[in-house]
Amino acid sequence: MNLNPIRARAIVKKFGGTSVGTVERIEAVARLVAKARHSGQLPVVVASAMAGETNRLVALGNEIDSGYRGPAYDMLVASGEQVAIALLVIALTKLGVPAKPLLAYQLGIETDNVYSKARIKNVRTSELENLLAQNIVPVIAGFQGVDEDKNITTLGRGGSDTTAVALAAALKLGACEIYTDVPAVFSADPRLVPRAREIARLSFEEMMEMASLGSKVLHVRSVEIGAKHGVRIHVRHSFLEREGTWIVPEGEIVENPVVSAITHESATSVFKLLHIPAETAFMAKLFSALSLKGVSIDIISQSELEKGYRLAFSVSAEDAPLVQGVLKGFLPPGIESQMLDGVAKVSTVGVGMRNHPGVAARFFTVLAKEGIQVHLVTTSEIKISAIIDRARLETAARALHTEFALDV
Ligand code: ASP
Ligand code: MG
Repeated sequence: MNLNPIRARAIVKKFGGTSVGTVERIEAVARLVAKARHSGQLPVVVASAMAGETNRLVALGNEIDSGYRGPAYDMLVASGEQVAIALLVIALTKLGVPAKPLLAYQLGIETDNVYSKARIKNVRTSELENLLAQNIVPVIAGFQGVDEDKNITTLGRGGSDTTAVALAAALKLGACEIYTDVPAVFSADPRLVPRAREIARLSFEEMMEMASLGSKVLHVRSVEIGAKHGVRIHVRHSFLEREGTWIVPEGEIVENPVVSAITHESATSVFKLLHIPAETAFMAKLFSALSLKGVSIDIISQSELEKGYRLAFSVSAEDAPLVQGVLKGFLPPGIESQMLDGVAKVSTVGVGMRNHPGVAARFFTVLAKEGIQVHLVTTSEIKISAIIDRARLETAARALHTEFALDV
């Protein structure tokens, strides 16, 4: 089959939970899809579960056993998407648009078997290509996959973005549309920083940092896949007919500000251990024990004291109880541990930082001026992050936003 004419018109459109949050909205999405099709596009639709539904399913499972992870968990939490795509196809059919709902196993979105955090290994495109050739709209459940043993898997919270970008990559398309309830990616969360501005273009690398530093706009894996396969991602509002933010290769951005965005994560916890032994083996064992429990460590800092060492590390607040459990069994007597909750992480991100010295100086000067204490710091070529008291997060984020000339 010659795919080129199809490829030129095919476009993946992903709709998030709020965009399909009610039957009225589902009908509005169906109208948007019908309109795109009438204008000559061949839409490939991906949908998330209706807003709040995945949380509800997670809570139901937790009521029985919050420690359970395995195929039944993924089957449970993946079910919200099945409802959403079925409703969307009913709405499309009502408008006279031929459409077919597809779960991940029906289409062939193949993943590994790491339940609740599975990674896509392969996407079969034959069924999609057949449907597109017949001008039928495929409507695909986001967030889910199927493993080798035919178990249903899920890609991690927010994973429908990843389904969408992976489908675009498999179809060798140059772009993917992510429809959401915000008009664009902002230079900071507007609820925290009212003077945040919309960003027209961001590099894949910046968006990856932002997503892993707490911005919830896109699933980080979707940006990685976009970068790897050259799929530009257009984040836009579902019901406003205008452009939002384009995530593109860095070379396509003419002028980069020094800092593109301030991101934050409000629920963080820091653990401090005092007088740990100097041997690296201690850290190796500690972090192995934590990783066995599925804790992902964020920042680590170690410093020498007169006697022994001090170790501090941060995790998401969600993982703090797991860390406490591990420490209880692990720490030999004589090692003091202390947990700081009520802390948050604030970060500046920008590829422009590479060519501009002095960003760290400005970052700490701003925090110092506000009298904000820094508990932990980490940097990369394009970001600086600090853990600070949560009560000072708003002040810190606003002051940094102003300092780096991002205010509207
Ligand atoms: N419904 C899933 C979640 O809430 C996936 C997604 O929305 O992208 O995490
Ligand atoms: Mg999302």
